[in-house]
Amino acid sequence: MKRALITGISGQDGSYLAEYLLQLGYQVFGIVRRQPGTMRWLTDIQDRVELLYGDLRDTESLEVAFHKSWPDEIYNLAGQVFVPTSWECPAETFDINVGGLARLLSIVERQKPDTRVYQASSSEMYGNVGDFCTENTRFQPNSPYGASKMAAHRLAEIYRARGIYSVGGILFNHESPRRGPEMVTRKITRAAAGWAAGDKTKLKLGNLEARRDWGFAGDYIKAMHAMLQQPTPRDYVIGTGESHSVAEFVTLVLAELGNRMKGRFANARLEDFVELDPRLLRTGEIHDLRADATLARRELNWKPEVDFRGLVKLMVDADLAASGVSPKTASAVAS
Ligand code: GDP
Repeated sequence: MKRALITGISGQDGSYLAEYLLQLGYQVFGIVRRQPGTMRWLTDIQDRVELLYGDLRDTESLEVAFHKSWPDEIYNLAGQVFVPTSWECPAETFDINVGGLARLLSIVERQKPDTRVYQASSSEMYGNVGDFCTENTRFQPNSPYGASKMAAHRLAEIYRARGIYSVGGILFNHESPRRGPEMVTRKITRAAAGWAAGDKTKLKLGNLEARRDWGFAGDYIKAMHAMLQQPTPRDYVIGTGESHSVAEFVTLVLAELGNRMKGRFANARLEDFVELDPRLLRTGEIHDLRADATLARRELNWKPEVDFRGLVKLMVDADLAASGVSPKTASAVAS
């Protein structure tokens, strides 16, 4: 039975990955910080995973977790992931996102160098370099978050050159009903559940023209696992190859509401539901991100199963269900 240690197990990716590894017969350990209320995605599996206390900024806690789990594979998914917060707290972002990996790699090298390490790298490392990014596209991050991810990515590469199996999965934006509510997709689908329930408040958004390559997190965690099963470690880009604007995301969400409950969504227009808030515009905005995942398709045999429309539907369904709105009651309120 293989043993896996996941940092950030209580988050979107960590919880999907834990479920997947359990299905594959792994013994799963996860590092959590003591934060009651952040574990809701683990409810169904908490009896089957072992949760260990730890913080990526605290070497001792990581050493203890490492010894208790004695992992064959580490998935380093914890981090400070919100770009605007990285401008508020750049040093903390680096301490968690780079220092955390440095601590883990150093423990692996000293204690159990055959442990394989997956590092959650990010498309934010590319900045505004243009379209269709591959593993060889130059990194030009333009936020502290992007820079921290790039530094960690390089660190994984440097340890790889020293003989550790460490890889960076360059994942483009990946979303799900478990996505943090501060990220734009979930912010929109949560607001949509409110509109369906009769809420007439407009949603404040920033740049509606920004484009992202959005995929489904449940597909992406399979690529993480595949990356650690290769004969030779290397980095891979993971994404759908399609990019869509924030405005398109909203429009599709409204179309979904229209399909389900007609009423005021029958001819819904974006401007009836969304209002521009200049405070949400970003310095160093990345205008467009799109992945070229050819290598992953070829070597990992990986491809996304859920497309853009499917992702929107999945997220809208989940937020409608979570808010207790059934299409029937909603149409009564909404019309
Ligand atoms: P990111 O790509 O990791 O920064 O993921 P986000 O979901 O935070 O942002 C995706 C894009 O949506 C960025 O280009 C944002 O500028 C844009 N966006 C527009 N309005 C909002 C908003 O209200 N919140 C967030 N989080 N992003 C927004």
